[in-house]
Amino acid sequence: VRARQAQIGAGPGRGTVVDPIACHSVRNLTLGVFLCGCVGHMSVPMKQAKVRLYVEQGLGEGQTIPLTKEQAHYLFGVMRMAVGDPVLLFNGRDGEWRCVVTVANKRKGELVCEAQTKVLQMPPDLWLCFAPIKKARTDFIVEKAAEMGAARIVPVSTEFTNSERIRQDRLQAHAVEAAEQCGGTYVPEVSDLVKLDHLLAEWPDGRQLMFCDEAEVGSAKRLAASTGGPWAILIGPEGGFSGSERARLKALPFAHVVSLGPRILRADTAAVAAMTLWQQALGDWP
Ligand code: SAH
Repeated sequence: VRARQAQIGAGPGRGTVVDPIACHSVRNLTLGVFLCGCVGHMSVPMKQAKVRLYVEQGLGEGQTIPLTKEQAHYLFGVMRMAVGDPVLLFNGRDGEWRCVVTVANKRKGELVCEAQTKVLQMPPDLWLCFAPIKKARTDFIVEKAAEMGAARIVPVSTEFTNSERIRQDRLQAHAVEAAEQCGGTYVPEVSDLVKLDHLLAEWPDGRQLMFCDEAEVGSAKRLAASTGGPWAILIGPEGGFSGSERARLKALPFAHVVSLGPRILRADTAAVAAMTLWQQALGDWP
């Protein structure tokens, strides 16, 4: 559990639950608060969970989950939930569980796990490597990567990268929020910023690279759809790749140079487009 927590960046500021995304997604569900499990004329009303939260604790039948102050504030102060109300929890390891509130104070709360509602669904082994851009657009890339099913998100510093620093804990919190919102049971790890040279020097055996090269704009270089296994996508910064970076990347035996069509896309658009292409060709889309 510890290793996993470290892995997904359980840093400070991981407030996790008091987030506008969760509030937004929840609002859309409030019309269907009661779900009827009907058996003939006997109907057993079952309250539908309005909130889905990421927690770090292990989940299993009968397991008690103490809430943090922030989580208690969100559930009982913001969402006005009470003892007996259901909440869906996931932790990235044990699938999703329907839990009920057993203690509901403004600063303290507890849930008990009742039943598993989803098994853990791992995404395909795809990394999204991208050069961070402006803050809001970087946040967007992380959010979309988590929604699109990246297994790992790797901010990479390149020659023309605009931003030399990232807040890993903030970005990790965005990945958590995206998973809460999109129904995923897995949260991709956001790595610390790594230099492109270093990333390539340490490249794992057997992982292929979809190198999205703006110099191929308009060319017919497509992703060859026949090769499965571990992959990574690489998206450059606003300034694109330097000549020497491009030459080095193109010479790598595991790199596949790909065009994203006849227009130059912004890095955030390019990340989503590339993940869509990859998921469709090699990923977990049915
Ligand atoms: N300033 C650069 C564009 C950078 S776009 C220029 O004008 O040439 C940011 C990143 O998005 C690129 O580094 C590349 O990884 C990706 N990208 C954008 N459009 C692309 C395209 N048509 N084909 C391949 N990659 C593209």
